Amino acid sequence: MIVPSYLSGHWVTPENPSKLTDVQDARTGEVIHQVSTDGLDIASAIDYARETGQKNLGELTIHERALKLKELALYLGEHKEELYRISDATGATQRDHYIDIDGGIGTLFTFSSKGRRELPNSHVIEDGPWEPLSKDGSFIGTHIYTRIPGVAVQINAFNFPVWGMLEKFAPAFIAGVPTLVKPATPTGYVAEACVRLMVDSGILPEGSIQLISGSARTLLDHLDYRDHVAFTGSAATAATLKSHQNVIEGGVRFTSEADSLNAAILASDVTPEDPEFDAYIKVLFTEMTAKAGQKCTAVRRAIVPAELVDAVADALEAKVKDKVKLGETMGPLASFDQQEDVSAAVAKLEAAGGNKRTIGDVPEQGAYVAPTILTWDKDADEVHNIEAFGPVVSILGYRDDQDAIELAQRGKGSLVATVCTRTLASEYAQGIAAHHGRLHFLDRDDAKTTTGHGSPLPMLIHGGPGRAGGGEELGGIRGVKHYMQRTAIQGTPNHVTAVTGEWHRGADIQRATRKEGDHPFRKPLSELKLGDQFASELRKVTLEDILEFAEKTGDTFYAHTDEEAAMANPFFPRRVAHGYLLVSWAAGLFVSPEPGPVLANYGLENLRFITPVTYDDSIRVELTAKRITPRVTDEYGEVAWDTVLYNQNDEIVATYDVLTLVEKK
Ligand code: NAP
Repeated sequence: MIVPSYLSGHWVTPENPSKLTDVQDARTGEVIHQVSTDGLDIASAIDYARETGQKNLGELTIHERALKLKELALYLGEHKEELYRISDATGATQRDHYIDIDGGIGTLFTFSSKGRRELPNSHVIEDGPWEPLSKDGSFIGTHIYTRIPGVAVQINAFNFPVWGMLEKFAPAFIAGVPTLVKPATPTGYVAEACVRLMVDSGILPEGSIQLISGSARTLLDHLDYRDHVAFTGSAATAATLKSHQNVIEGGVRFTSEADSLNAAILASDVTPEDPEFDAYIKVLFTEMTAKAGQKCTAVRRAIVPAELVDAVADALEAKVKDKVKLGETMGPLASFDQQEDVSAAVAKLEAAGGNKRTIGDVPEQGAYVAPTILTWDKDADEVHNIEAFGPVVSILGYRDDQDAIELAQRGKGSLVATVCTRTLASEYAQGIAAHHGRLHFLDRDDAKTTTGHGSPLPMLIHGGPGRAGGGEELGGIRGVKHYMQRTAIQGTPNHVTAVTGEWHRGADIQRATRKEGDHPFRKPLSELKLGDQFASELRKVTLEDILEFAEKTGDTFYAHTDEEAAMANPFFPRRVAHGYLLVSWAAGLFVSPEPGPVLANYGLENLRFITPVTYDDSIRVELTAKRITPRVTDEYGEVAWDTVLYNQNDEIVATYDVLTLVEKK
C-alpha cells in the first residue's frame, strides 16, 4: 500500500508513480508499505497553508488554539493503542511507545497549559517592559511578537515519528502558524496514522496540518522568507538543506536538530562504592537500550576517571546481560539501512582504537544490533565525531576534571550532558554549559526522581549549539516564539496600547471617582475597557497609624519605630510608614465592597516602593485596567490593574499590578 499524503485538505495517493520506495517491517524485513511523492502538488499545498491555514488559525486567539491542543491530546490518548500497534513494525517496544507516542501526547498537554497560563489570550505577545523614549511620556517603545506569515515546515528523523512531529506542531499551532510535516521514509507510516487521527478528530481548523509521505527533495524550492523549516536528522542533510538558495538568499528561516555526541561524565568526587556510581550506570544502560539507542539525546561518550574505565564497562555489561533480551526487552533498529550504518560506524570506531564488547545474541531475522561497548585506552578524534545511531556507547578515561571538561567540549556542541557529581556542579556548568542545550546533574538525591538524561521535556530547551544544530523546538514558550517575528514598536502610549492590547501609562483613561460613581469594579469583563480607571481621595498617615501597625504585625523595624535611628538611615527623613501598610490602605482606598463581578484578588506583581511616606504625609491611589484576559474555559477571566500610589505632592510612592478574577457577564 502506498502511504497517502494529506495536502490542501485532501488525502492523496500517487497513481501509477514512476518511482516507489519500499518500507520494511524492521522485525521481519517484509515490505509493508511503499512511498512516492510523484505528482504531488507541493506548491499548491504551501499556498494552501499560507492562505487557508493562516486565515483559519488567525480566527482563534492564542488561548483558543492552546485549548484545542488539550482536546487533541485527549483524543489521541483515546486512540493511542492503534498507534502502538502500527508502530510495532518500526521495532519499537512498549517502553519505546511510551517515549514516542505518550511522550508526544504529553507534549501537547504541556504546551496547552503553558500557552494558557503564560501567554495573553490575544494574537499579539508583548515582549519585555516598555521603554520611555521622551521626557513628557508621549513617545514610548516596546517589542511585540506576531506569528510569521507563512508555513512551518518540519522535516523529521525516523526515530520519533509521533513525538518528533508533535513537539514541533504544538508550538507552531499555538503561535498560529500552519504546519506541513515531512516525516522520514522508514517510519513515516506511523506519522501518517497520527495525522489521520488529528484530521479525523475534527478538532483542528482546516489547513492547520498537512503531510507529505515520501521524499520531498524539492520542498525548499517553494519556500521564502515567510516560512520556517525545522529540520531534524543528520548533520549531512542539515548542511545540504542549509545551503539551499532559498535559505541563503531567500530568507527562509531554518533551524536544525542534528547529530549529537552527548556525554555522561562521572566526576572525580564519585567512587564505585557510592550510590552515585549505580545511578550513573543506570543512565548509561537506559540510554543504550531505550529505542535501541536511536535517540538523538542518547549517551555516546561516557567520560570517567581513567582508572575506572574497566569498572564502568564491566558494570554496564553486567546490567545489560541481566536485563536485555533482544527481540523482547530491546527491539531492532528502525530499518535495515540503519543496521548497516550503525555497523559501519562501529567498524570505524574500532579501527580508530575502540576495544569492542558486544553483548547478547542477535536474532536471525530483523534489523537488530547487539548492545555494544567500546572502551578507549587513548583519545581519538573519531570518538568525538562519529555518531553510531544505535545501542553503542564509548567509554573513555580522563586524568582530572579539567580534562573531562575538555573531552566533553570536543563534541563541538551537544544536546545534553549528564554530570554525576555531589560537589562539582558549578565547575562543570562553567566548563561545559555553553557547549550544551541541557545539563543533567545526578547524585543520590535525585537518582530516583530524575526524568532522565535522554528525555527532552517540553518546558526545557531541547536543542544544542554547534554540531547539534542550534535548534530550539522545545523550551516552553520560547518554542512558540520561535514561530513568531519580534518587532519593535514606537509611538504614543495610545498607539502602543492599541497594538499590544495592554494599557500603557499615558494612554487614554476613563476616570471614575467615589463622587462620580461608575467604579470599574462594578463592570463585568463584557463592559470593562482598557484604561477604565478609579482615582481615590487623599488619606492622611499619622504616627499613631505607623506605631499601631508596627505593634499589631510585629514588624518593629527601626525605620518605623525609632526616630533617631530612622534619621540616621540614608533613605528615610524620619520614621516612615511600612510599605505593606500603604498597600493595605490602597486596597481600602480603591475597594468597591459590595458583591459584584469582581470575584477575588489573587496577587500583586512588580511591587516597587519608590518614595518613602512619613507621618503627616497623605497618599492616594489610581487603579487602571491594564490587561483583560477572558478565560476560554470559564465564566470569568483575569484583569491586571496598573496601580500607582501618590503622595500629596503627586510624587510616586509605589507602583504594582493588582491581579483580580472578574466575571464575564
Ligand atoms: P536524515 O537521513 O538526515 O533524514 C532526516 C530527514 O531529512 C528525513 O525526513 C529525510 O527524508 C529528509 N531528507 C533527507 N535529504 C533531504 C533533502 N535533500 N531534502 C529534503 N529532505 C531530505 O536523518 P535520519 O537518518 O532520518 O535521522 C537520524 C539522524 O537524526 C541522526 O544523526 C540523529 O542524531 C539525528 N537526530 C537528531 C535529533 C536532534 O534533536 N538533534 C533528533 C532525532 C534525530 P527521507 O527519509 O524521505 O529521505
